[in-house]
Amino acid sequence: MNRKINLIGSFATDWIRYSDYEYKKSSNTEYIVPTKDAVFSMYNPFNVAEDLLLDLMRIGQLALRPEALNKPEMNLEIKNNILVFAKKYGLFGFISSCVYNRNIIGDEHVLFIENNPVTKEKTMNGKEYIRQFIPFAEEGDVEIKEYKKCVDIVKSEDSPKFYGKRPVVMDLIFSRFYAEQVNWIIDFAKMIVSHFYQLLTYREASGYLTENVTVMTDRFHAEKIGFKINQLDRTTIAWEFDSLKTTIETIYAFVVTDEKIFLSRCKHCGNIFIANSKREKYCSPSCRNCSNVKKTRARKSKAKE
Ligand SMILES: [Zn+2]
Repeated sequence: MNRKINLIGSFATDWIRYSDYEYKKSSNTEYIVPTKDAVFSMYNPFNVAEDLLLDLMRIGQLALRPEALNKPEMNLEIKNNILVFAKKYGLFGFISSCVYNRNIIGDEHVLFIENNPVTKEKTMNGKEYIRQFIPFAEEGDVEIKEYKKCVDIVKSEDSPKFYGKRPVVMDLIFSRFYAEQVNWIIDFAKMIVSHFYQLLTYREASGYLTENVTVMTDRFHAEKIGFKINQLDRTTIAWEFDSLKTTIETIYAFVVTDEKIFLSRCKHCGNIFIANSKREKYCSPSCRNCSNVKKTRARKSKAKE
């Protein structure tokens, strides 16, 4: 058994990651951004779907622990995990997933999707919105050029450009100057984990449910997902995502509805893992052993009494 998620279709276009990231502050807000000398590489998120999802949920689980709020070393652990995550999978593309606008670049106003991590506002000036994602770019680093009939992004580095094949905003997301706030990432990771916890609760109560219950209606918003139909030896769906966020949401949707493998929570350590059957209760042999030792001890001490 391979613990592989049954992903329907393929990922149409690769995502970007840089070799190194750093934390930087802009007006007292902490951002994560590729380092100056970082080099990019492209990868296919569907090829690493299981690790991608579990690594994000690990961050969410750490952040949801009550002690995460006041323990500095706990925050350090979360931040280290986010840094490792970014190097493995890149940033989330929140600039695209937070608004209904498709191209964003050159739009006078952006219209926000409800409960996005960036703002509680309904609309914002387009340029002001973009500035939040390139707080460390200096003059000439990334420039938005508006021509009569189109807009373009001119970058002072060699990151990928799509020349109209994908929304112009992708040129910005894939740039070395594109940054995201640490809080946005933590919020998203917490949301996915909370969604899963609530789903587990509903599953336990599923015997009592008489109609469909939507899990976390107000927080789970996987918007702007497109697809094409491709033909090679067989006909397949090719998903088009403008953000890693919606990619992760889609992978998550596939795993929780998969009937061959199960996203589960370890009965011993609480970690989220992929199980091959509903009977599998522990994330690792060591957790199973620890739990067995505990049970034996409890039985022995009861016998003594
Ligand atoms: Zn465990």
